[in-house]
Amino acid sequence: MAKQNDHFKKVIAHAKEYGYVFPSSEVYDGLSAVYDYGQNGVELKNNIREYWWKAMVQLHDNIVGIDAAIFMHPTTWKASGHVDAFNDPLIDNKDSKKRYRADVLVEDHVGKLDAKIEKEVAKAAKRFGDAFDKAQFLATNPRVLKYKEQGEKILKRLGRSLENEDLADVKRLIEELAIADPETGSRNWTDVKQFNLMFGTKLGASADSAMDLYLRPETAQGIFVNFLNVQKTGRMKIPFGIAQTGKAFRNEIVARQFIFRMREFEQMEMQFFIKPGTQKEWYDAWKETRLKWHHSLGMGEENYPFHDHEKLAHYADAACDIEFRFPFGFKELEGIHSRTDFDLSSHEKHSGKKLQYFDPEINESYTPYVLETSIGLDRMFLAVFSNSLTEETLEDGSARTVLKLPSVLAPTKVAVLPLVKKDGLPDVAKKIVEELKWDFKVIYDEKDAVGRRYRRQDANGTPFCITVDHQTLEDDTVTIRHRDTMEQDRIERSQVRGLVKDEVDIRSWFKKM
Ligand code: ATP
Repeated sequence: MAKQNDHFKKVIAHAKEYGYVFPSSEVYDGLSAVYDYGQNGVELKNNIREYWWKAMVQLHDNIVGIDAAIFMHPTTWKASGHVDAFNDPLIDNKDSKKRYRADVLVEDHVGKLDAKIEKEVAKAAKRFGDAFDKAQFLATNPRVLKYKEQGEKILKRLGRSLENEDLADVKRLIEELAIADPETGSRNWTDVKQFNLMFGTKLGASADSAMDLYLRPETAQGIFVNFLNVQKTGRMKIPFGIAQTGKAFRNEIVARQFIFRMREFEQMEMQFFIKPGTQKEWYDAWKETRLKWHHSLGMGEENYPFHDHEKLAHYADAACDIEFRFPFGFKELEGIHSRTDFDLSSHEKHSGKKLQYFDPEINESYTPYVLETSIGLDRMFLAVFSNSLTEETLEDGSARTVLKLPSVLAPTKVAVLPLVKKDGLPDVAKKIVEELKWDFKVIYDEKDAVGRRYRRQDANGTPFCITVDHQTLEDDTVTIRHRDTMEQDRIERSQVRGLVKDEVDIRSWFKKM
């Protein structure tokens, strides 16, 4: 745990030091759970967005994109259920005055039971050595089985109480489990209350005519209300999808995990419109497609478990998360939801406008069902960034910090370095920058000894350094240094572009899907 915390602290510090993520309005001491992306952060974020957009929109001939406004007619949020049901259960500690999400307190308690199981496994593995059979141990060890049963019982009860809006029972559960304020240890809790997460604002100049609006808490509704516009103008045939990336806003109760849980964040969502009755097969298909997308980035297939939802949202008939191993444990990275016809039917009811699809194959109109994939761009950023930040001890005993970003996502692809600042080497290096900058983000760096410049680029995640030396003047060759292996090869200057392109081109990464 201490090790995890340590790594997370390093991630936050590194993100700031290298111009990836800054606290918002830092000169005024920041704004809670709001962050700005710096000069490198914006490039990484754009590259992740492009990696998603191309995979979802460009590679699927039945998915198109839109860009809907953040402000929407207020009835949208009545129809979507957000006005009545977009709540989190909150609880305050009377002594510390700290506020928590009641469900998260209980889930974290269960997380401790899971940690105990992991400890038992580690102990047994050590005791039995090569003969250790983990699956058998998990299925038979009485202590493990007891922890598992306890955890499942707690989560089931939590799910049931939340579904029945029985907040008094959620409090009873917290008391029975003797859950204490994680920061102070106090068990002096208030009752559990529901808290709506939407931010309200006003449209219009004068106080009496102003209209109450919400900042959208998800991008999906902009897609639902445009469903027929896109279907008709794009002559789309079911099944088809509409994709969108954009900002969403949630007044999160507890937001202390850097860019994991923000109050202003960006989502990348795709709603796939299907024939009623086919939702199960599309649910399975999209789970597989999205998992392949994640795996293509090569960040460890064991890091992405599925987690089925115990408590389904008001609109869903099946839902799961793709989790990721964040520095603070496995947490949701992406949601996959089978949303039935809840949204379209509800907008039809509230607007009085028909939102149905005429299916020419069966000569009938119906309200399509919807399969949704929804991923937070900032969470994906944190997944990529935290997983890439590594510290290595080199053979000579020195340490090296490397940001092993998948090269397709790296903000800068190439750094061009003249070995020394004289003898015409800078001129040649600048010419190489000119040649490459039409294809890749390239930087020129001549400050400090070349070893230090390499380290700077390693820490910044730049996959290639091209060094121009005196031999370049004689035979037009340069050295290319690879970030992860630190290997250097001497190549013709004319080969540089092709070599880098092979490595960073989105096409070669997509081939892994
Ligand atoms: P959580 O359970 O973590 O609150 P959620 O289930 O409410 O998330 P969804 O409504 O399914 O999240 O939103 C889809 C995706 O949007 C999530 O998988 C996550 O990646 C991202 N997301 C949701 N809330 C936030 C937030 N406050 N900050 C950053 N990303 C978020």
